Amino acid sequence: MKRNFLILIGLIITGLLYVSGQNPAPWFTAKEVANKVWVISDHGSDNIYLVEGDDTAMLIDNGLGAADLRSYVKTLTKKPVIVVITHGHPDHAGSNYQFEKVYIHPADAEAAKAMNRPERRAASSKTMQGGDAPSENELYKAEPLDTKLIAVSDGHVFDLGGRRMQVMETPGHTPGGICLLDIRNKILFTGDNNNTLVWLFLENCTPLHKCLETLEKQQSRIAEFNTLMPGHGAPMSSDFINDQIACVKAILAGTCEAKEYKSFAGNSKICAFGQASVAFNPDNL
Ligand SMILES: [Zn+2]
Repeated sequence: MKRNFLILIGLIITGLLYVSGQNPAPWFTAKEVANKVWVISDHGSDNIYLVEGDDTAMLIDNGLGAADLRSYVKTLTKKPVIVVITHGHPDHAGSNYQFEKVYIHPADAEAAKAMNRPERRAASSKTMQGGDAPSENELYKAEPLDTKLIAVSDGHVFDLGGRRMQVMETPGHTPGGICLLDIRNKILFTGDNNNTLVWLFLENCTPLHKCLETLEKQQSRIAEFNTLMPGHGAPMSSDFINDQIACVKAILAGTCEAKEYKSFAGNSKICAFGQASVAFNPDNL
């Protein structure tokens, strides 16, 4: 009887600790999705990728900046890490403050700098995470480093040792958006350029016909990659780009029946084709 009572007390205490958040889920989780390629989930908000070569590892995007990414990455690789940002949005460039050097296209540098303040990180985490956002106390508050932004442009190749990563400029979702091509392994890391739903209605998005040029440029190089690793969602086959092109062409031709689209970033119209959806601004075609 006494033993049962002690077990009951133990269970109650365990339950209380769980409910009070003494054992919260870790902010980051990682999964190896290709050989020496890890996708790090930024608490479900976005994908951060870590790609390891023989000498160096590359971090592609760095998430909301709400937790200690720099230390987490050290649990996955012992190699020196270079950081490259696909674009300057707060859910991709939010941890810049944790790194000394970050490579970025110059057209997105100002946007990325604007994110590098704790109040912006708190606001973007709240927007993306909703009720699961870290409180002011839980938000990671490392002393911000004097991050140096280094410009990259089309064709630049990073040699990680046995693994070469090439920059592909993909203006559209932002003016300075880039993708990174793992040349040998035929993997394209696409930021927000090739998500199943792409936002092309934001103020800084290029006109839609320019986005089409970007997608057609990718299509012209489709033999160079089999897999897309997007900034949100699961890996996809490269022919997903064909659906995106058909979707954007239908919008430009006026042949798609656009629906209303509402989001925290504003309202717009949306069209879909196959697996691809595009939210767009009818005044910025
Ligand atoms: Zn974005």
